[in-house]
Amino acid sequence: MIQARVFEELCDNVGRENVFDNIEERVCYSFDATKEKHLPDLVIRPHTKEHVSTTISIANKYNIPICPRGAGTGLSGGAVPVKGGIVLDLKNMDKIIEINAKDLTVTVEPGVVTKDLQDEVARLRLFYPPEPGSAEFSTIGGNVAECTGGMTGMKYGVTRNYVLALEIVLPDGSIINTGRKTLRSVAGYDLTRFFVGSEGTLGVFTRITLKLLPLPEKIGTITSYFKNIDDALNTTDSILIKSHFLPRSLEFVDKTGIDAVRGFTKEEIPEGVEALLLIDVDGNEKSVVNDISKIEVLCKENKALKTLVAKTDDERKVLWETRRSISPSLFRIASMKFNDDICVPRSKVREVLKRVYELSKTYSIQVAAFGHIGEGHIHLNLIYDEGKAADLSVHKLISQILKEVVSIGGTITSEHGVGDTKSEFIGLELSPHEIEIMKELKKMFDPKGIMNPGKIFV
Ligand SMILES: Cc1cc2nc3c(=O)[nH]c(=O)nc-3n(C[C@H](O)[C@H](O)[C@H](O)COP(=O)(O)OP(=O)(O)OC[C@H]3O[C@@H](n4cnc5c(N)ncnc54)[C@H](O)[C@@H]3O)c2cc1C
Repeated sequence: MIQARVFEELCDNVGRENVFDNIEERVCYSFDATKEKHLPDLVIRPHTKEHVSTTISIANKYNIPICPRGAGTGLSGGAVPVKGGIVLDLKNMDKIIEINAKDLTVTVEPGVVTKDLQDEVARLRLFYPPEPGSAEFSTIGGNVAECTGGMTGMKYGVTRNYVLALEIVLPDGSIINTGRKTLRSVAGYDLTRFFVGSEGTLGVFTRITLKLLPLPEKIGTITSYFKNIDDALNTTDSILIKSHFLPRSLEFVDKTGIDAVRGFTKEEIPEGVEALLLIDVDGNEKSVVNDISKIEVLCKENKALKTLVAKTDDERKVLWETRRSISPSLFRIASMKFNDDICVPRSKVREVLKRVYELSKTYSIQVAAFGHIGEGHIHLNLIYDEGKAADLSVHKLISQILKEVVSIGGTITSEHGVGDTKSEFIGLELSPHEIEIMKELKKMFDPKGIMNPGKIFV
């Protein structure tokens, strides 16, 4: 509950028209792409860094929690105001401030939508590679706060690899600048890297400078269907390890994902398929044609039942639509879904998938596995119908999977963040001493604990 005088102070400083306390607005900001729900007391939509700074310093003065928010597509509850307080909706700060083609940089406000940025720089034949499945909606601020990955990570890495400089409003309202608009800088500790992936718990990004690359001339796409997972995984080894190809994307979908999406998109997937690989390569025209035909041979050598090479952009889109539709199509199987995202060393993918399917049977919860398999990344979607018993089994199953993932050298979250949905599991991966160091760092920036409380740490 925000006191009337604090409400007035906020309105005086950021404008009454940017402060919302009506229930309709608050409900819209009570959830993200998880099933978490908590009502904020207030929603503020700043237009400038000064708005952000005054809001945060007033919140700091009165100990009010601040929950920064981009598009709310997060999959770990990061933008859900679990302790109430103020949701700071950054979508109005959506200017592309400068595209510098010579310096290969772009500077943006945090509310710019990822795909809009990619399209805008592509006009100048420039390329911003990180491409989450949510690119048409998610914001750059949210991407930086989550260190978002995506479909091109195999060749181009994740958001962290592209953030050069940040303007950040700290929890006391002061503003700092980290990094430089240069492609390299090693002056002092790397605060930029420290803030990337901080999930809104250390400060609010109000300006972001990203590195760009020259836009590849052509992208080639091939999809391949397999009778079993082993054949698909052998193919990934043939591509990466034996033949030394570095695809732009190397995506995998298992039988549950395939069955859910069959008939949902235009791609005609043959019956009897238990694994699918979707592979993109990019470069110049000649190298792409060459690589695709060699990869097609590798797929066939590894017993692919069928391969399809996209001949046009429209055919590419159809193949990618299947991959992008896996997640929503799983709701055709059951009404509830928990999105887990793990990453293991590549050599352990086979082992971890085998264990996941065994555990899925033990707990009677269906699991769909898909993801950026070239990097050892797997989205595990647990599908179930709502009910207390199922909720309990899902929780037990996730706990067991994460324990085993960590025990073989993997991580509990590869790109969706910890948020509040995974905060109880962070102790599986980090020692008490490591967690303590992180908490001390957080305390140094945010002694009152107002920035996105309830996230990352229990
Ligand atoms: C269909 C779908 C597909 C997806 N595919 C992928 C994928 O391929 N790869 C992947 O990594 N993720 C994926 N995601 C997850 C999600 O889209 C990403 O985490 C994305 O970066 C979140 O951006 P957002 O703008 O929606 O942020 P929000 O959900 O609004 O916020 C996410 C976090 O960022 C913080 N935050 C937001 N803006 C700021 C700011 N300016 N300053 C400081 N903190 C801030 C919030 O407090 C919160 O902790 C997917 C989600 C969906 C729904």
